Amino acid sequence: MPTLPKVVHVYEVGPRDGLQNEPTILATDLKVELINRLSATGLATVEASSFVRPDLVPQLADAAEVMSGITRAPGVRYPVLVPNVRGLERATECGVTDVAVFASATESFAQRNLGCSVRESLAMFAPVVEQARASQLGVRGYVSMCFRDPWEGDVDPRKVVDVVGALAEQGCEQISLGDTIGAATGEQVTTLLAMLSDAGVGPDLLAMHFHDTYGQALANTLLSLEFGITTIDASAGGLGGCPFAKSATGNLATEELVWMLHGLGIETGVDLPALVATSLWLAGELGRPSPSALVRAWPMENHE
Ligand code: MG
Repeated sequence: MPTLPKVVHVYEVGPRDGLQNEPTILATDLKVELINRLSATGLATVEASSFVRPDLVPQLADAAEVMSGITRAPGVRYPVLVPNVRGLERATECGVTDVAVFASATESFAQRNLGCSVRESLAMFAPVVEQARASQLGVRGYVSMCFRDPWEGDVDPRKVVDVVGALAEQGCEQISLGDTIGAATGEQVTTLLAMLSDAGVGPDLLAMHFHDTYGQALANTLLSLEFGITTIDASAGGLGGCPFAKSATGNLATEELVWMLHGLGIETGVDLPALVATSLWLAGELGRPSPSALVRAWPMENHE
């Protein structure tokens, strides 16, 4: 049996990545309540919003109001996305202590999501990362489309290695590898992690961000844990559909991740019943059931 980590850091992305991809725009006070409830479940990181141009992501146009409305719990980090120096400055004015930049492994997605080439986007992030580090902020780099891209098909892992290397060189303390359309195979995951390891990028620098479109998120997570990865991204209740595959299933649900980890004897510090209760409450506010099978099954299993 491969050795699994004893503790895994669950990096909650629901209020940012989840809500960004929901058709319903949640009211600011409900976002604040969501973030406060999530941070009370024992999650150490709750990614809270995004300081992108409000007209580009109307779901998160109230980032400043959200960041000033939340109650920061001791020991919990509340990172936000910042696309450029202007976004970083707006975030810093709101007392943000952790930020993230959002790169792409493929040219097609860089053009569609950022309006520039991969190389140009990395040049745009360099001063953001530098300025954030100089201000002692935590900085995470995201790389999307690490395995399969809806326009380009299977992604050459060497492209991912190049982008990860560039972000690491800029000073990102953690780099999250995204299976943005949720179609990665186990072999793609292990191949990429092995190539990164050969290039000198070990599991300590990495997080995995799986989507469950093809139902492979937990299988790919387990393979990543066997590789020594100890940070996994997930979204409460599976919040956020997949914008590139007309499927209701997007981000890996945090509840399903926590259930699997606890079932393997791995500590997360997360109170699962409190997390499920939060997702059930949110599903009510959004007016539709959670896409997570676990969240839907939970009340019928007499956990309450
Ligand atoms: Mg996602």
